[in-house]
Amino acid sequence: MNKDTLLFEKSRPGHRTLRLGKLDVPAADLSLLPKGSLRTKAPVLPEIGELDLIRHYVLLSKKNISIADSFYPLGSCTMKYNPVTNEAVVQYPGLADIHPEMDAGRVQGALRIMKRLEDGLAGITGLPGVTLHPAAGAQGELTALLVANAHFEATGQTKRTKVLIPDSAHGTNPASAAIAGLEAVEIKSGKDGLVDLADLESKVGDDTAVLMITNPSTLGLFESKIAKIAEIVHKAGGLIYMDGANLNAIMGISRPADFGVDMMHINLHKTFSTPHGGGGPGAGPICVTDELTPYLPSPRVVEEEDGLRLDYNAPQSIGMLRGWPGNFGVLVRAYAYLRRLGAEGVKRVAENAVLNANYIRVKLNKAYHVPYDRMCMHEFVCNNKHQREKGVHALDIAKRLIDLGYHPMTIYFPLVVSEAMMIEPTETESKSTLDAFIADMLMIAEEAQSDPDKLHAAPVTTCVGRLDEGRAVREPKLRYACYKD
Ligand SMILES: *Cc1c(COP(=O)(O)O)cnc(C)c1O
Repeated sequence: MNKDTLLFEKSRPGHRTLRLGKLDVPAADLSLLPKGSLRTKAPVLPEIGELDLIRHYVLLSKKNISIADSFYPLGSCTMKYNPVTNEAVVQYPGLADIHPEMDAGRVQGALRIMKRLEDGLAGITGLPGVTLHPAAGAQGELTALLVANAHFEATGQTKRTKVLIPDSAHGTNPASAAIAGLEAVEIKSGKDGLVDLADLESKVGDDTAVLMITNPSTLGLFESKIAKIAEIVHKAGGLIYMDGANLNAIMGISRPADFGVDMMHINLHKTFSTPHGGGGPGAGPICVTDELTPYLPSPRVVEEEDGLRLDYNAPQSIGMLRGWPGNFGVLVRAYAYLRRLGAEGVKRVAENAVLNANYIRVKLNKAYHVPYDRMCMHEFVCNNKHQREKGVHALDIAKRLIDLGYHPMTIYFPLVVSEAMMIEPTETESKSTLDAFIADMLMIAEEAQSDPDKLHAAPVTTCVGRLDEGRAVREPKLRYACYKD
């Protein structure tokens, strides 16, 4: 590195200024650091030519699979197309080059985007209290449970320590309950794949804090008894939390508040388009009723006569969950996406997501067993029942899809269906893409009968074949291969 790019300069005794181009930024007082912790020589950093670096990253990008390469029907993850305009908007200097500690007067536009996004989410869910803080759906779940805890504590209901969770739920639900210091209690699904009301009634009581329910469920089914379920839980004094990861199936059509939901999270990166494969950035805002709003994380965006600002005055708030009030880039993308769609567009997204999933379901439900074979929402679950006698597993079918150029569907989830294969096409795919996928899935079903070993050997087109996934989890090697242990 050129020594001149970072220039430390003694301006006052014990105080240095970091000179970066034209900007003079006061740096930390280095004399406070223990002696011996400061470098005396510049670090030896590895150097590489620009061309070699470019080749390295292009090669890596070619090994990756994204929605830009191929169809990506990873159920529950909503791998829809993320419009390129989002990326252009998020790079506007007024949005990209700001900092959450800046004076409110200089970031009115950013605060306006946050406020309007909050208003939009409140409109879609029917729940007026919104926080944009949580960085992911899972953190939204935790936030809401902490809000529920605060509410029960403030109202003297400290006996409420149980969280009821249907057996088809995402694993983050019981994990969030445990982190919030609550006890997860499983509710069984009935034969129809929906919550078993008798089982719910036997477990709900004056120790119930919250029922966490995913609607539409992870089976891609609308929980048609949701109003009755909410009534049962409310009667017992509990709150209804909706895992809103599947909001893309119902938004603009039905509002969760209208069927009894008190709090919910929204996965902005799924429903409102941010590239989120490989653990990419997310945002999991939560929306709550008026009654629960005082407990939301602080600071909140407030509007006053002279403009918007972040308000830290919230005596009942659960406090801050993370460094700053929201994963701003994801919030901007969600806002850009919503503005582009408008209210009518949001509804059309849901309609097309549901139409596409049903189209595939109906075309595949003879070749593959569909345990709940009725109108589905934005995704459906099938399994390998017809392929099992040939020794073909969901894993083999998924691996064969890789050879055919697809990212596989979600497999072995939800747990209530053995060897589940969960297919979510999203609304952004064309009919010709869906038809090609259907044809390939039918071909795989045919191969399972005529040449099952072809599926057992898959994938054969990738640089690595099948990994020992159990061992990879138990003995992870977290270093780059080029470094010796
Ligand atoms: C994705 C998902 C979550 C978790 O959301 P993250 O944003 O990944 O933390 C929770 N529940 C369901 C049903 C999901 O699909």
